[in-house]
Amino acid sequence: ADPRPVVTRFAPSPTGFLHIGGARTALFNWLYARGRGGRFLLRIEDTDRARSSPEATAAILKGLSWLGLDWDGDAVSQAAQAPRHAEIAHEMLAAGTAYKCFATQEEIQAFRDAAKAEGRSTLYRSPWRDADPETHPDAPFVIRVKAPLEGETVIRDAVQGDVTIRNDQLDDMVVLRSDGTPVYMLAVVVDDHDMGVTHVIRGDDHLNNAARQLLVYRAMGWEEPVWAHIPLIHGEDGKKLSKRHGALGVEDYVAMGYPAPAMRNYLARLGWSHGDDEFFSTEDALGWFDLTGIGRAPARLDFKKLANLSGQH
Ligand code: GLU
Repeated sequence: ADPRPVVTRFAPSPTGFLHIGGARTALFNWLYARGRGGRFLLRIEDTDRARSSPEATAAILKGLSWLGLDWDGDAVSQAAQAPRHAEIAHEMLAAGTAYKCFATQEEIQAFRDAAKAEGRSTLYRSPWRDADPETHPDAPFVIRVKAPLEGETVIRDAVQGDVTIRNDQLDDMVVLRSDGTPVYMLAVVVDDHDMGVTHVIRGDDHLNNAARQLLVYRAMGWEEPVWAHIPLIHGEDGKKLSKRHGALGVEDYVAMGYPAPAMRNYLARLGWSHGDDEFFSTEDALGWFDLTGIGRAPARLDFKKLANLSGQH
């Protein structure tokens, strides 16, 4: 048991409306925190300027509000935290858990070509990792965090179990680009740490990222969160969800007349179960929701079920 008071977060990228998958992730985080007297936070991951829009942020907030998923405090803008992310990259540099890499794109490509030709791993190994800082050139650099060279990294996931990654498959991830901007993978960890997030509950498309994010937790000596990576939702045909499955925005369901309690009930059952219970109130779900009830198989959309539940709520 984790003694820290529970803090969860929903961290959407504002590139479109709040779709079913995002709404379910938000609901799981909300249920987990609210059912334990914890806090549920919202972070807008707006670092991809080209794809993010204020309209999408507004649509996501509106969708959450309609679903009745209230968050604590103001939504955090990830882009606004960039100076803090860069500061952490420099802290790791000062501590020696990260280093300046002066390799050019051409050099990295040449390394990969040679490795490929010789049948070695093409994972880039920077010669700057162990270089004497005194010999550093006055040239553009990126900051890389040092990955362990041997052994394994284990993600202890509350849904997936222990997920083991061989460390020889992890490269020294770039955390700060040569123009001084932080990469997304660093931003997520710094924000989660600063926001005091204890449980990271999100889609399992982020499972591989967790191994790289752990590098930063460890380099900083920060306590890592409990991970819970939820299998993605599939359409009624068993294939990965896409627009073709009627993957609509939450507000479309409002327009169709589905009541919010039915929608919450339906979303909760997408990947989480409590015995044979299909119909339950939000109060029931708050009392029952746990990470052990999340299945390892992808949930399937079933609009007949939603229609059914709507008749009962
Ligand atoms: N912004 C990511 C997404 O929308 C979520 C990242 C996370 O939860 O760590 O898929």
